[in-house]
Amino acid sequence: MRKPILIGNWKMNGSLQSNQALITRLLPRLRPLRKVVDIAVCPPLPYLFQVRDLLGYTGITLGAQNASGFVSGAYTGESSATMLKEMGCVYVLVGHSERRSLYGETDADIAARFAAVRGLGMTPVLCVGESLQDRESGRTVEVVQAQIQAVINKVGLAGLAEGVLAYEPVWAIGTGKTATPEQVAETHFGIRQFIAGCCEPKAKVVSQALRILYGGSVKPANAVAIFSLDDVDGGLIGGASLHADDFSAIAEALVTTCPEAVGESESH
Ligand code: PEP
Repeated sequence: MRKPILIGNWKMNGSLQSNQALITRLLPRLRPLRKVVDIAVCPPLPYLFQVRDLLGYTGITLGAQNASGFVSGAYTGESSATMLKEMGCVYVLVGHSERRSLYGETDADIAARFAAVRGLGMTPVLCVGESLQDRESGRTVEVVQAQIQAVINKVGLAGLAEGVLAYEPVWAIGTGKTATPEQVAETHFGIRQFIAGCCEPKAKVVSQALRILYGGSVKPANAVAIFSLDDVDGGLIGGASLHADDFSAIAEALVTTCPEAVGESESH
C-alpha cells in the first residue's frame, strides 16, 4: 500500500518570525496525522536550519526546493545534496516548473539533480507537468513522459522507484486554476501505464508502488475531490502551505481519504 504524502513548498517566502509562527501553529494539528500520512515542508534554504530545529522529533520532516547535480565546486548559488542532507532534509524537490521555466533547467539537468539526491539516500520529488500550450495542443502525455524518461535514462527504473513523482500542470500552479478530477485521474493513470510499459524488470510492480502526488492550486475546498482519486497519493502544495489553517485542513482532508487509517491517527 502506498503511504500518502503531503509536501508544502514555501517557495521564496517566509522570515524567521513568520516561519516560527507557522510551524508553531501547524504542529498541534499535523502531529496526530503523521502515522497515516507523511508530511514535509520545504522552506527556502536560509531557513532550513531554523525549521529543522522547530520540527525537532515531531515526525514532520524537512525538504529542500532543489539540489545541484554536482558534488561541489564553482556553482555559485547552488547547494549540493550533501549539504542538504547535513541540514536534515529528507525530501528534495527537483524539476519544479518554476526551475524549468525561470531558470532554464532541462530534463537532463533535472535527471542529474535527481540522481544526486537519491545517491545520498534522500527522496527526490520529481515534478513533471505540461504547459497550457502543451495541453491545448494535445501534448500532455508526450511532455510528461519525456520528463520521466529522462530520469529513467539516468538512474533506471529502480532509481525512479526510490523517488516520488509530483504531477503539476504548469497552468494550475499558483493560478487558482485546478485541473479537474478527470484530468488529474487521466494523467496519473497514464503515468502508471507508461511506467508499467517500460521494458525493465519489475516495471509493473514499480508502477503500482510509486507515489504520485498532484500539485496545482490545491486548497481545502478541492482537496478531498483530488485526494480521493485512485492514482493520487497526496499533494504538493504551494500557496496554501503558507497558511497554517489551510495546510492543516488539506492534511486532514488527505487523512479522510484513507478511512482505514483514521482510527489509527486518532489513537496516537
Ligand atoms: C507548487 O508550487 O508546487 C504549487 C503546487 O503551487 P500552488 O499550490 O500555489 O499552485
